[in-house]
Amino acid sequence: MAFKIIASQCTQCGACEFECPSSAIKFKGEIYVIDPKKCTECKEAFDTQQCASVCPVPGTCIPA
Ligand code: SF4
Ligand code: SF4
Repeated sequence: MAFKIIASQCTQCGACEFECPSSAIKFKGEIYVIDPKKCTECKEAFDTQQCASVCPVPGTCIPA
């Protein structure tokens, strides 16, 4: 499993990119995307998914 970013809701603030312990979030083209192969759902690193925690727009970083 991995998380994904709902591009239509993302304000491209960039906050999530720096909080991801797996370096799974990158700015590609004109949107932020989560590489599902790299996303660990923050397991073993944090109790909560960091992208979802820091994202200012509710429901934008969600389980894929
Ligand atoms: S759930 Fe965790 S590992 Fe996955 S993209 Fe979000 S911050 Fe990165
Ligand atoms: S924290 Fe949320 S709004 Fe900001 S770039 Fe990431 S997904 Fe987009």
